[in-house]
Amino acid sequence: MSSAQSAPKAEANATFDAASASEAVRVEDLHKSFGTLEVLKGVSLNAAQGDVVAIIGGSGSGKSTMLRCINFLETPTSGRIIVGGEEVLTRPDGSPAKARQIERIRLSLAMVFQSFNLWTHRTLLENVIEVPVHVLKVPKAEATRRAMELLERVGLAEKHASYPAFLSGGQQQRAAIARALAVDPKVMLFDEPTSALDPELVGEVLTVIRDLAAEGRTMILVTHEMKFAREVASHVIYLSEGRIEEEGPPEEVFGNPKSERLKQFLRTVG
Ligand code: ADP
Ligand code: MG
Repeated sequence: MSSAQSAPKAEANATFDAASASEAVRVEDLHKSFGTLEVLKGVSLNAAQGDVVAIIGGSGSGKSTMLRCINFLETPTSGRIIVGGEEVLTRPDGSPAKARQIERIRLSLAMVFQSFNLWTHRTLLENVIEVPVHVLKVPKAEATRRAMELLERVGLAEKHASYPAFLSGGQQQRAAIARALAVDPKVMLFDEPTSALDPELVGEVLTVIRDLAAEGRTMILVTHEMKFAREVASHVIYLSEGRIEEEGPPEEVFGNPKSERLKQFLRTVG
């Protein structure tokens, strides 16, 4: 993580120095309003390859809106978004070329939602091969082979022919992660991936995400699992009322919070 406000950890200095070459996602001064409601009031973020950026904050602070802007599910009101060195017009001009660029970049940013979002009328295998086959035009045999590897990775190979409704929430979310991995994303975006799960199913999903972090996947993760954020994040952003109230390495943000709001927040969630 490279950020003007925070002193990177010693081992993060390499990525800090090589920020432009290894930059995965940069967000600059992002604003987003819904009508008169100003949800994001100028947030910036810089994730180098291999970074795990955790976004924490109270309900309604703008965490999901921030992720949805990064994935172009929402159109920012203003600001810059640069993905893999490529700047995306944050106000799409409606041209086919711009739409194609957004589609392409969206494919390099796989999103995993709170509510799994699997296609209910398709088996797990069909869910995982859908985008590779129909959008990326990967031959079906190859997509199937790769999908089975991914399902194996998340511990669901034997469930490949099952429909989502017959699986637990934890299994569905692991399948959603396999589906996200199937496009070989440059960056994975997670929006509270465990908050819809029964407590006993949270661990199996966190284990999968922890493994992805350990293998150097770049991730931006909105989570209310503070212990997990502290463990896996290379950088933590605390969002409050649409602004970054405090950010830094996890040991600083969690171990030595400066802002009163953050202290209060950590008391309520901790
Ligand atoms: P968080 O994920 O931190 O809980 P959100 O980003 O979902 O917060 O929401 C931030 C604020 O933006 C909330 O007040 C929410 O009601 C509002 N909001 C989010 N999406 C929309 C939308 N599509 N239209 C209007 N208001 C929205
Ligand atoms: Mg949210």
